[in-house]
Amino acid sequence: MTARLLDGTALANVIRADLKTDVEALLARGVKPGLAVVIVGEDPASQVYVASKGKACIEAGMHSETIRLPAATTEAELLAVVDRLNADPAIHGFLVQLPLPKHLNADRVLLRISPAKDVDGFHPMNVGRLSVGDRQAFRPATPYGVQQMLIRSGIETKGAHAVIIGRSNIVSKPMASLLVQDGPGGNATVTICHSRSRDLPGLARMADLLIVAIGKPEFVTAEMVKPGAVVIDVGINRVADPTSAKGYRIVGDVAFEPVAQVASWITPVPGGVGKMTIAMLLLNAVQAAKQAGGWADGQVA
Ligand code: NDP
Repeated sequence: MTARLLDGTALANVIRADLKTDVEALLARGVKPGLAVVIVGEDPASQVYVASKGKACIEAGMHSETIRLPAATTEAELLAVVDRLNADPAIHGFLVQLPLPKHLNADRVLLRISPAKDVDGFHPMNVGRLSVGDRQAFRPATPYGVQQMLIRSGIETKGAHAVIIGRSNIVSKPMASLLVQDGPGGNATVTICHSRSRDLPGLARMADLLIVAIGKPEFVTAEMVKPGAVVIDVGINRVADPTSAKGYRIVGDVAFEPVAQVASWITPVPGGVGKMTIAMLLLNAVQAAKQAGGWADGQVA
């Protein structure tokens, strides 16, 4: 078998085109959806993500603000920025880019963000609302993007056994919350695995839908995949590659070539889940603007 490709670039382009229409409708009502991103320090990967978020925002016709703070910023200074954004009517949604420098407490910072502007969906209020199936809650962008890829590609999750490898608060736990809900892209039976799970290969082989988010290059091999399974690779890893001009290349958590021989569908890295993440973040910001104006919830499923 050779797997069909879940093309994140193409799907994200469709979502971003739809989004432009939504933005135009809001502009006609006198509202320009605004998204701000706060970044503390110089982490190179975070700088790249933040630049892409700002660019995508402008392309969608939205208002974009990037607040760059030095690595030595104190918690009080960062909380003051959060307070300012909470109160700014031009900003409908914002996020503080993680990871933060070690001296800053991410939990305290996330708690300070107004849940109504928490477009990352990491505030405990939104985490809780998502887990009880509240459709107004912001869905964290990466798992939301994965769910949209499945829905828009006609992949049925109802009754499927979804196995998620990884238990992060950012990707894997909200992924489980989404897949287990009653509704489109839900109704799955969900297993979450982590580094202490017994017989991980055996658990992975039980999956109709295998979602991998661990940050270990090409960890999942063909032997860990049931023939015909759908494989979603969330991982983004740099591996040394002297043949590349940059000296490295990006690979996922799944050994793409051999797994593609076994799976029915597979996401590439790059060009898969990562492309969806930014589109879904913009969608959340537009949803925030709609909710602030008392209009529909803005979600696509
Ligand atoms: P974290 O890096 O926070 O955590 C990794 C998780 O993987 C932990 O739960 C850990 O388990 C588990 N894990 C690590 N090694 C193993 C192993 N050998 N067997 C089983 N489980 C293991 O996870 P994230 O979700 O933040 O990130 C995962 C990957 O996804 C990274 O490569 C990241 O760059 C990428 N990513 C991609 C995004 C995108 O847009 N495509 C967005 C966000 C992340 P334990 O808790 O037991 O240690």
